[in-house]
Order: sequence, then C-alpha cells, then structure tokens
Amino acid sequence: MTTTIRLLSDEVINQIAAGEVIESPASVVKELVENALDAGAEKIAVEVAGGGLQRVVVSDDGKGMDAEDAKLSIVRHATSKLTRAEDLFYIASKGFRGEALASIAAISKLTVETAQEGQTGTRLEVERGRVVKTARCARTCGTTFTVRNLFHNVPARKKFQKSPPALSAEIFRMMTVLALSHPSVQFELASGGKRSLQTRRGERFQERAAALLGAPFAETAFPLHFEEGSLYFEGLLGAPSEGRPNRMSQFLFLNGRFVQCDAIVDAIKRGYATRLAERRHPLFLLYLSVPPDLVDVNVHPQKLQVRLRKEELFRDKVYLAVEAALSRREERPAAHFDEPAIRRDAAIPFVFREECDEPPPAALPLEKETPVILDQLERFLLFKEGETLVAVDVEAATFRTCYEQLIAKTDAPMEKQGLLVPFNVTLTSVESAMVLTHQEAIEQMGFSLKAIGRDVFMVEAIPPFLKEGEVKGVLIDMAHALEQFIGQADYERDRRQALALKVASRAKVKRLASHQEARDLIERLSTSPNQTHCPKGNPIRIELSYDKIEDLFRADQKAPASSR
Ligand code: ADP
Ligand code: MG
Repeated sequence: MTTTIRLLSDEVINQIAAGEVIESPASVVKELVENALDAGAEKIAVEVAGGGLQRVVVSDDGKGMDAEDAKLSIVRHATSKLTRAEDLFYIASKGFRGEALASIAAISKLTVETAQEGQTGTRLEVERGRVVKTARCARTCGTTFTVRNLFHNVPARKKFQKSPPALSAEIFRMMTVLALSHPSVQFELASGGKRSLQTRRGERFQERAAALLGAPFAETAFPLHFEEGSLYFEGLLGAPSEGRPNRMSQFLFLNGRFVQCDAIVDAIKRGYATRLAERRHPLFLLYLSVPPDLVDVNVHPQKLQVRLRKEELFRDKVYLAVEAALSRREERPAAHFDEPAIRRDAAIPFVFREECDEPPPAALPLEKETPVILDQLERFLLFKEGETLVAVDVEAATFRTCYEQLIAKTDAPMEKQGLLVPFNVTLTSVESAMVLTHQEAIEQMGFSLKAIGRDVFMVEAIPPFLKEGEVKGVLIDMAHALEQFIGQADYERDRRQALALKVASRAKVKRLASHQEARDLIERLSTSPNQTHCPKGNPIRIELSYDKIEDLFRADQKAPASSR
C-alpha cells in the first residue's frame, strides 16, 4: 500500500490559519479598524448586517493603497509594517503579522476599494483568497473593505457563531473599546440600518464616555486619579448604584491597551466593598499607566489577557485608588470635571483635569475644626470641636477604626506585631481544621500562625491592637465564624468582614495613654466611612453644642419667655 504525501494547497492553509485569527465577526471589525487606524484614518465608519455574518463594511479616510499594494495586501504575510526579522519579536504580540486580510479573504467574499491622495482608485473583488476582478474606481483618499458571507466556506466555524443580535452586541463592545482607545478618531457604527454609536473627533473624555457608555454613567460616575512614582491611574468609576449583573461594562486599559486582568478587576471590586449590592459588578473605565517591564502582554495576543509582575502591589494600589475615589463624596460628581489638563502619558489617551490641585472635598464633620482634647472621663474621651463639646466612647470608636483597618487592608497584609516570645495555642480539631483551611485570610487580619502539631498553633505575630491574652479567644471566635462559609462559594468579602468583626471587637481599648493617642484615634475616626456607630451599632459620639448647653440652662431657669 502506498501513501501519498501531498502539500496542502494555499487555499486550505489560509482557511486553517484564518480560524486562528478570525473567530467571529467582531474579530473582522477589530482587524479592519486597526488597519484603518494604522493607515492614519481620522474617521472610521463601520456598518454591519446580520450580526456581521452577512456583511461588514469598514470605510476609512486613511492614506489608501495603490493598485499594487492593494493586491498584495490580501496575500498572507504581506505587511507594510515589518521588514526585519528582529522586529518580529517586538511586534508579534500586536497582531502585525500580515495575516488578517489574507485570513478574512480566505473565508468570505471580499471587496476592496481604495485610493491614495490625488490618484485614481482601485477596486478588487476577492474570492477564496484570490483576486477575481480588478477595476479602476473613483473615490476619495482612503479605503473601504466590504466583507460578505463570512465563514460561508468554513461551516464548522459558522455553526458555532452566536445569534446575530449577540454578534452585534459583541461588535458594539469591540467598537466601544476601539473608540475608548483612540479619542482623536471619529467612529461610527451602524447595525441593521440603525446608527448605534457615534463619537466626535477630539471630544472630551467625559463626552466620549457619555457617548459610549451612556449619559447616566458619565453623569454619576466618580473620577479616579492616582499617581505614585511611575504608576499613573485615571478613569471613571460607575456609581455603586449603577452596578450590573455582568462584567460587560468594564473597560480596563493597561498602557493604552484594552486588557482583561482578573487580578485588577478583583481589586477594583474590593475597592467598592459593601457599597455595591450583592452579585453586582461595577461599571468602570480605567486607564492604568505602569512601567512596561511590570506587564506580560504576550500571554494571549487575541484574548488580551495580561499577567502582572508584582501583582500584589498592583492590586493594593488599584484597591486604594478606587477606595479613595469612591470616598470622595457625591459632592463632586464626575460631570464637573471638564477642563483640560496636561497630558501625562501617551498611554492614557484622554486629557483629564488635574485632580490634585483642587481644594479638598467638603470636610467631614470631624475635620471642621482642629479638636482640642480636654480629658478622659473613664472610657469617654472629651474634646472641644469649635463650639461643640464632644464625648467619644473610646471602646466603640476603637472597635470601628480597627474594623475599618482590617477590612481595608486585604492585599497589603495588615500590620503585624511580631512576638519576641511566640506562644502556643491548642484548639479543638474542628476549630483547627477551620483555621488551617482559612489560614491565609486569618493572617490577613494581622496574625502569623504556624501549625506545629495536631491542633496546636504557634502564634508568631498578632495585630498591634490586640493583647496576647485575647488571642486564643479570637482564634476560637474566628474558627466558629468561618463555619458559616462551608459549602459556600464567592464568600471572600463576607469572610473578611466576619473575621474583622471578631478581631476588632476584642480591641477593647478603654483608656488612651496620651494626648497623641487621642489625636490619632480622632484622626482615624475622621476618615472612617461610618463615624457615628461601632460595627455592632452602638453609638460612638455624642455632641453638646453651645446652643444646646445654653438651652439646658434656660430650661432649668424656667424662663419660657426667652428672648432667643
Ligand atoms: P498587518 O496589519 O499585520 O500588516 P493585514 O493583513 O491586516 O496585516 O494588512 C496587510 C497590509 O495591508 C497592511 O500592512 C497595510 O499595508 C495594508 N492595509 C490594510 N488595510 C489598510 C487600510 N485600511 N488602509 C491602507 N492600507 C491598508
Ligand atoms: Mg492588520
């Protein structure tokens, strides 16, 4: 019996390769729009029919091609963007591999119309990757690609396409991403005869965000601005009340590139913390600019997954930035930031207002006046705040501030106080199983534990506000609190809160040792989201204003005809 080895025809090779580059009509849109951007287009119009399976048309006003280049453009590995093999390493991840058009041509009926400035245009009809008709045509400078009957000769691929409405939604999202990445270009999308998206050239970030994500988002979003060393973050965070059941409206750009990165999305979500309703995902538009050597973008060139070096650091910074942005209260809705600022970094495509130079947001109650500390009366700290006398329950206040500290610091581990002389704690086997299962979460609360025997743990560090004598009790409390999560999924946030509650409630500071400690407590309390009640609902402070004191005196004088 003889076997015949045959070379696959170019047509078959192109069809196979096409499947890798073109997964759906949205990939066609992406490739064609990116080519238009590369050609220097200032205006790009996209039109789709039948979810893009029937027709995708992409027109641009870029530099166009001459007849020769137009024919070459649909040949595999034809590219004007790469001439030396060394470039390949750098450029491969960006998709400049000269195979997009060849792939599209192999699996559709393609028409190209293109003209360069002041030249007669060229019109090509391409079928199964081959030019079947060439003609001259009249058109202005630029290029139009029309892709018909996508996947008509790759039934396996066609069968697995979503419904036309779902495909249109994907295209819409793809266009949104492209428009958000290129603010100086005008984009238009028409789907099924209706214009579904339009941006203007050079419009402000705010306007583009409104055009793409809707006016309600843009008007209620919280501006985020964060700068530290070589890290620079800028964006808009959807109001917590605008949470969505899925992640479709999350747009994350890393060094100018749209990416998917679970670690960052996770940190953002944690920044929202309890502000967001259960099982809701925040809407956001976030541009992160970071040193390139901290990012691995080659993980998957199509899916845009990135991997981060120093992930912990990132998560922490993003979390802090989000938390800070959301804590600046509603007095400063995003809609008010519309003045241009200096563009810091080419990777951040929009121009934002300088947030840092602004006056601080409206002061929180405790920041109105520098408090004058008077004294302690048992467990009450007395101070004067302007014309008001304030008494703070030190225990309730400490409970609150320790709790906030614990739930805020999940990624940067909580400050720990290492013990010079570690000690052992013995638990029951059920308790120790819970501690072992959730050891990482417990350590985030400021403990360092080492399992040294059956059900015996050596305690090497504890939260600074805890007394050694409380440790065993806290560990037991935590172990029991953790039982509620058996068999549950997605409990990360609830678990953090449950553990923090147990640890903070043992803080039990009843007296402050110095004025400095008193000032620190007042200061920490002033930045707490809840300054009036401890996590169990007990009041933290009572106030006696001058007027109130005066009223009390008057009431006692029984002088109803007061002149006030
Ligand atoms: P790549 O973008 O990787 O170079 P493509 O297959 O996407 O490969 O495109 C091949 C070539 O066709 C490009 O390098 C470019 O020279 C030319 N080209 C494609 N689209 C356009 C366009 N809209 N305007 C001008 N030239 C284009
Ligand atoms: Mg290309």
